Amino acid sequence: MDELRYQIDLLKAMNQKMSGREKMFRLACDTSNDAFLYYDCEKNSIVTFGSWDIFFSFAVTEAKDLSLILDMLKEEYREPVRELLFLEKSGEEQRSAESCLEDGRTWYEFEARVDYGEDGRPVDKIICIRNITKFKSQNEELRYLAYYDGLTGLYNRNYFVMLLTDFIRQAEKEKDIVSVLFINLDDFRKINDSMGMVVGDEVVQQYGQFLGTFSSRNIIVCHMNSDVYCMAVYDPRGSRSIENIYRSIQDKIAEGFLLSNGTRVHVTLSVGVAEYPEASESVLELINCAEIVMFKAKASGKSQLQYFNSFMLQDFLQTVEIENKLKQAVFNKNFVLHFQPQYYAESRKLRGMEALIRWRDENNRMISPMVFIPIAEKNGAIIPIGNWVIEESLRRYQEWKRRYGQDFIMSINISSLQCRKDNFVSHIMELIEKNGIEASEIEIEITESILIEDFEEVKEKLIILRDHGVRISLDDFGTGFSSVSYLNELPIDTLKVDKSFVDKVTTDESTRIITESIINMVNRLGYESIAEGVETEEQLSYMKQIGCSVIQGYLLGKPMPAEEVDEMFRKML
Ligand code: C2E
Ligand code: CA
Ligand code: CA
Repeated sequence: MDELRYQIDLLKAMNQKMSGREKMFRLACDTSNDAFLYYDCEKNSIVTFGSWDIFFSFAVTEAKDLSLILDMLKEEYREPVRELLFLEKSGEEQRSAESCLEDGRTWYEFEARVDYGEDGRPVDKIICIRNITKFKSQNEELRYLAYYDGLTGLYNRNYFVMLLTDFIRQAEKEKDIVSVLFINLDDFRKINDSMGMVVGDEVVQQYGQFLGTFSSRNIIVCHMNSDVYCMAVYDPRGSRSIENIYRSIQDKIAEGFLLSNGTRVHVTLSVGVAEYPEASESVLELINCAEIVMFKAKASGKSQLQYFNSFMLQDFLQTVEIENKLKQAVFNKNFVLHFQPQYYAESRKLRGMEALIRWRDENNRMISPMVFIPIAEKNGAIIPIGNWVIEESLRRYQEWKRRYGQDFIMSINISSLQCRKDNFVSHIMELIEKNGIEASEIEIEITESILIEDFEEVKEKLIILRDHGVRISLDDFGTGFSSVSYLNELPIDTLKVDKSFVDKVTTDESTRIITESIINMVNRLGYESIAEGVETEEQLSYMKQIGCSVIQGYLLGKPMPAEEVDEMFRKML
């Protein structure tokens, strides 16, 4: 701007005097890389200076020649420049406009300064023309980096948030709905691990580009990060209803994506949907809500779409709170073990004790393992917690054995993540040895869910443990997929019939039939059977009558703290 002001002052002086200073002025302008145009409106005369000849192949000497400049520009960029060249209105002293030439590549910037006379009509103007092509392309690159994701070509997170904000503003005015879809590739880590990151990137890219095909005036698609995409749909109905979009996605997945290495992949997607204004009126909260439901979709078996509702938020907030407190609890070891006795149905002699964890929070409240174990399993805290359970229960066992000389089995619940740790077997064996315990006095309780994920790996570990003498018990039998076919493939000693069967054996005929056949099968396979959650004499006598060998439940003994177990053993002496 200073340069322009300097030159216009110079020009004015030159205009007035047209003295020998003109030489000096021309010299000053000619050294510039820009082109200048001085227009004396009253005389209708135009003088051009600077690098004019580099910019234009024609001369401009009066107002009518100005249209030659306009002819060089792309149609859609002409208007602002026309206004600027013919600036007539008083009060608009300075203006600038960017414009692209017909070639579509070269960019000029026009900058005008106008002086008006007392009657409000322009007296003179100076126009500076610069080539800004280089600057533009650098800007474009920066703009691309700021708004787009390099891998997929989709919008990035920040730009998505900006565009979604516009959608929400409009929806607020028009009383419309906006749906936000949080989309995540299922088991992407497995692809990365098994096929490598380069292939992983290609999968992310292909899915991203496919999702990008849904982009329109009403649909924005972005790549959030790694294997996560987001889509915002304005007024989702008709062909852009969420169901229709999801169906198209599913069709494409069924067809698969052909990678450059020739393999075809069929990665499924878990999708969470949150709607403005129902889920939230804030952009970031909407995205968060959609993310929460996406995790729900994953937890309930992946490859599905789920909608947000307010209960989920409650649930989620509780989970987050527990997760945070759990970290502290692990650090401070704020856990205790309770032990529940198991008795032989016939003799009523003590068969064993099941170690059941309890968490005492900072307000001295007991939090149920039903609440925190699933969370610990998800965030990995189950590993230190599980290790503590094994250590603590073996220590107690050793102490009671030494003190009271009782023979019994210590049952310990094991989660799937623990079982999958490489040192799972060696860790248990080391602790058994360290405490001077017979392996056959220890039993681990696993559920069928452990088997679903990695049957072969788990089976091998169980076989090794069993070879060392550790007992294996299958917990909650009847609640999972309960396929009988794997039963004789696994090294099982004990099968625990789930409480849900025991609850109904005295009242429901079909439960009776199923329970009877389970016990029958267990007996014929030579395993031991335990009835879980026996609360009444009727349940006990029925289970005993159909051949169930061990009874566990409130009727014969609730889970109790170690001190009460001491008490119990003392009485038995
Ligand atoms: P589970 O292994 O099936 O444990 C049996 C649950 O039923 C225990 O609940 C026990 O207190 C309860 N129970 C026993 N008898 C009765 C009865 O007659 N009536 C009723 N209503 N309930 C009875 P708890 O202690 O709350 O444990 C719940 C679950 O938490 C356990 O189910 C187990 O899956 C998990 N869990 C507990 N401790 C541990 C642990 O140390 N490690 C792992 N991985 N999981 C654990
Ligand atoms: Ca158990
Ligand atoms: Ca159980």
